[in-house]
Amino acid sequence: MTISAILKDIDNYIHENVDDFIHELARLCGQPSVSATGMGIHECAHLVNDMLAAHGYNSEIIRTKGNPVVFGRQNGHSDKTLLFYLHYDVQPPEPMDAWESPPFELSRRGENLYARGVVDDKGHIVARLAGLAAVRHVMGDLPCNVKFVIEGEEELGSPNISPFIEDNKEKLSADACIWEFGGVNHEGSPTLSLGMRGILYVELIAKTASIDAHSGLGGSIFPNAAWRLVWALQSIKDLDERINIAGFYDNVRLPSKRDLEILANLPDDGAQLREMYGLDHFLHGLKGGTELKKAAVFEPSCTICGFGSGYQGPGSKTVIPAEARAKVDFRLVPDQDPDEILKKLRQHLDSTGFDDIEIQYNGGTRPARTDPDHPFVQLTIDAANKVYRRDTVVAPIIGGSGPNYPFIHSLKLPVVSAGVGYPGGNIHAPNEHLRINDFVQGIRHTAYIVEAFSRTD
Ligand SMILES: [Zn+2]
Repeated sequence: MTISAILKDIDNYIHENVDDFIHELARLCGQPSVSATGMGIHECAHLVNDMLAAHGYNSEIIRTKGNPVVFGRQNGHSDKTLLFYLHYDVQPPEPMDAWESPPFELSRRGENLYARGVVDDKGHIVARLAGLAAVRHVMGDLPCNVKFVIEGEEELGSPNISPFIEDNKEKLSADACIWEFGGVNHEGSPTLSLGMRGILYVELIAKTASIDAHSGLGGSIFPNAAWRLVWALQSIKDLDERINIAGFYDNVRLPSKRDLEILANLPDDGAQLREMYGLDHFLHGLKGGTELKKAAVFEPSCTICGFGSGYQGPGSKTVIPAEARAKVDFRLVPDQDPDEILKKLRQHLDSTGFDDIEIQYNGGTRPARTDPDHPFVQLTIDAANKVYRRDTVVAPIIGGSGPNYPFIHSLKLPVVSAGVGYPGGNIHAPNEHLRINDFVQGIRHTAYIVEAFSRTD
């Protein structure tokens, strides 16, 4: 069979079986799996394990210190191995009354499918299985080896995935990896991404007294926790946005010429962002274009995500707060390391007179990205161009974070994100939905990638 005949048969199989794929997705979405509360997690791991087995994979549930990982594998004709990273856990459905149909029941309205996790990430799990089923049907068997890592703590920041990978390096060995998210952008162009920023999330805590006090009594003679924390925060970042932690920028790798070329080809969404968020300006006087795109993903940041202290109800209360807390995240770029930044933050506070400020570590992941010139990147782009018949948009790195570091640096895999979402899909929000056409295209893309990958040497 010629390649184009194979692809045509793959397309036919997918179109004829869409209802079955939707049925499978309904089954998976019908099983809650909220990692934040633990609701349905173990039942869902078993369901995913059963689904992999029903598709002919050797599947097992592997324990971790947290929620279990479902691991599946099947050998194929070539000795190349493609690994799929996915997650079966979902975000909490709340607020419940904002849903137009029950979140754990797949509901079809028009050409959209609604449910918690229907895109993130159960739609991706089923799209991979469906794409592979199409390839198997047409080619008689899998043309390459396939492995699945489907974890249950992605929505918690994947706290146990690094040790899982270190413990199972042999088992997980592969040649390339398809990541769990992606889809089309506002214009309908397929969008692939090659990396993610890292993150360090901390809570900074000032405690100045055992109880709140009357401000008339102590305002002139008692320390104030809210002021302590405000001053400490101010020491971290200048008015010009420069982060003042000694050594913070030491390991920042500047984008290459090639990165800037790729950024220049990305759509300019500056005007859209300003409109959508009602901004009257961007930081640093940025207006748009490549400079804005570069700053958005290649600059590390320090964000105050929340601040709480003292009285916040209506009217006045004259009080000195005994405690103040701020939630702060640092988005990190290659080659910054969250553990190292945490140490430097401690040193910074100690050396600037804020050794009384407590740091509570809430989590961290390292930044990582795949070389845009890796042949696997071109393979996924070519496959997307064929499926979507539009130029594929490639992001060298995105601003968000995820656990791709151990896949790229420990398993040494090129990792490309490709998926079934679109920007209006309400991921993490009420009425999360998948457009059936995006689902079908994501299934086709998965199948085309597998077919092309099996021909690489
Ligand atoms: Zn998510």
